[in-house]
Amino acid sequence: MAYNPQVVDAKIVSHNPKNGLFEIVAQLKDRTVCRLIYGTDATGTLQPTHINRLLKEPCPICRKDFLCNCMSKFKGTISEQALEIAGNPS
Ligand SMILES: [Zn+2]
Repeated sequence: MAYNPQVVDAKIVSHNPKNGLFEIVAQLKDRTVCRLIYGTDATGTLQPTHINRLLKEPCPICRKDFLCNCMSKFKGTISEQALEIAGNPS
């Protein structure tokens, strides 16, 4: 199934300037809400390390209303859009 996530709103909900870690909560057009957790890899490049779907709405892909891993496939896409809206704090 071709899922095409569209971020309509995103904001930084926590940021630790000491280690550069931060979190963004992103709202998608289909009302899915995700929390993205960012960190830096060994070369110091910022990247999303985790994505969690907040359990407000069933998963748009598998329709489960409990934890699933569907969103992890779209981590990069959702992250790109979320950073465009929320900005990069580091
Ligand atoms: Zn799912």
